[in-house]
Amino acid sequence: MHNKTIAQLSAGLARGEFSSVELTQSYLERIKRLDVQLNSFITQTGDLALEAARAADARRAKGEAGPLTGIPIAHKDIFCTQGVKTSCASKMLDNFISPYNATVIERFAAAGCPMLGKTNMDEFAMGSSNETSVYGPVKNPWDLQRVPGGSSGGSAAAVAARLAPAATGTDTGGSIRQPAALTGITGIKPTYGRVSRFGMIAFASSLDQAGPMAHTAQDCALLLNVMAGFDPRDSTCVDQPVPDYTATLDQPLKGLKIGLPKEFFAEGMEPEVAAVIEAAVAQYRQLGAICVDISLPNSGLSVPAYYVVAPAECSSNLARFDGVRYGYRCAQPKDLLDLYTRSRGEGFGAEVKRRIMVGTYALSAGYYDAYYLKAQKVRRLIADDFKRAFSEVDIILGPTTPTTAFKLGEKTDDPVTMYLSDIYTIAVNLAGLPGLSMPAGFAQGLPVGVQLIGSYFDEARLLNAAHQYQQHTDWHTRLPTGFEG
Ligand code: GLN
Repeated sequence: MHNKTIAQLSAGLARGEFSSVELTQSYLERIKRLDVQLNSFITQTGDLALEAARAADARRAKGEAGPLTGIPIAHKDIFCTQGVKTSCASKMLDNFISPYNATVIERFAAAGCPMLGKTNMDEFAMGSSNETSVYGPVKNPWDLQRVPGGSSGGSAAAVAARLAPAATGTDTGGSIRQPAALTGITGIKPTYGRVSRFGMIAFASSLDQAGPMAHTAQDCALLLNVMAGFDPRDSTCVDQPVPDYTATLDQPLKGLKIGLPKEFFAEGMEPEVAAVIEAAVAQYRQLGAICVDISLPNSGLSVPAYYVVAPAECSSNLARFDGVRYGYRCAQPKDLLDLYTRSRGEGFGAEVKRRIMVGTYALSAGYYDAYYLKAQKVRRLIADDFKRAFSEVDIILGPTTPTTAFKLGEKTDDPVTMYLSDIYTIAVNLAGLPGLSMPAGFAQGLPVGVQLIGSYFDEARLLNAAHQYQQHTDWHTRLPTGFEG
């Protein structure tokens, strides 16, 4: 069963070939047997999953099943789950049992999707390798010596190894697309405001967005149908109708205009990665798309702008973790100040502290104009570049990452090199656009992802373009050695 897509599993459930209980059990068994190698789950919720699976089967028996009823999925441990530990992979929240559900969790529960567990991630979603988790790094199923990418590395590894048919992720600067690329799966970061952020622990509020990670664009469409939509509990969630993302998957691509930004094809990309991206462009030409060169002149400023904006917002968001109301508290504080400083000093890891310090500095009186305001102005220029591009083309295509999965420990001592892993993904968050990554080939046995970027609320077009590509290629069906059976 584990080699099937959600669309296939859903058809199997509908035909009564297996029950949701059987399906859920088979994934729980795989997690038990195989996750010792990967460390992709922080918490396994087998009992809850089976209870939900029984309810899904009962619902189906009554003829009330929807397309995802009975399909088990995993959730990134950044989403609040009522009664279940929600840690953000931080010592700070190691003891936190959420009293409520995130909207994304509620929507999947209402659709009838049993939750298999909570997936590992970089601490507070800060990282590109899943090495900043207090629960230890996640391994890439394609090579256990390598990282799965981050910050949604647990979700990516679990899906790639078929420990779950799909998982949720969040993407602030690339955290759905980059790990999807490094593990050979498909993931989409929707337009900012498309999916509710309520109950999704905030990293950088103006950039964070949740999205699905699965094997195919079709599966992502089914999942986004559930996730997307207005939520009055998130003031940045946009009240705009949600199309059925599966309805347009089969549209032919003839005449689709694809922009190839010259800045994304410049040096820095590994030659083998470049070759895969060029092959993807050739495939799109064969499908009738018209590929044209474009320029995003300010995209080189996206990493520096992001590393002012994101830390600034994180320093403000993470101020709530003070050891008073919930989360980690240091032992025997002398006084209130000691309680604050030691709880935070002991509860947060090095990367989170680095960001809080950078952000606090950038927001300080006297520096605000020089850094934060400047970065916001650059952000506008980046968004304007895309706006100009989308007046000429329908979608933009480029690499998701400059390299394939790197070795564990390879970049941990050099934060700036680590930050550059997101060089092609970050501009999309700064502009608030939707972006998708899907597998497009291999370089030395490791998956390579191609990125498609769309205009605002144009997720359907990205999913259509990815689905058509996947109808003519089979990269998305490959299984890492050791996880076949
Ligand atoms: N790697 C980027 C960072 O560390 C992006 C993380 C994310 O998208 N959550 O900030």
